[in-house]
Amino acid sequence: MSNQAGRMLPEITPESREFWTGGFEDELRIYRCKACRGWIHPPVGACWRCRSRDVGAEVASGKGRVAAFTINHHPWFPAFPPPYIIAMVELDEQPDVRLTTCLVECDVDAVEIGMPVEVVFDEQDDVALPFFRPVKA
Ligand code: ZN
Repeated sequence: MSNQAGRMLPEITPESREFWTGGFEDELRIYRCKACRGWIHPPVGACWRCRSRDVGAEVASGKGRVAAFTINHHPWFPAFPPPYIIAMVELDEQPDVRLTTCLVECDVDAVEIGMPVEVVFDEQDDVALPFFRPVKA
């Protein structure tokens, strides 16, 4: 999980590759079931709703809302001096599809549940981390 510099980066699996690399093309790629059309996250090889194995990444809008958040005070990422916001973001496509992510370009005092956010990618080595920022009015 961590490289020599001590930075924490996700491990890429066959199922998660599209999710972690789609950001290089500015695309939030989320697994979706071709049978029942439900979105699936984290990406796995079969749909938990209908058990179909006909699943694969599709491009999501990148829009969502803050479902939960916590203010982090630990310096996990050198690029992110604390405090910063770890959030659970529910996607507009399907609110039960939730990503654990960081909120960026957002004051820690300004974040609230239900706040509209949009994806922004942070390129680190071979992954483009999907973070979210508030949608500007
Ligand atoms: Zn399905």
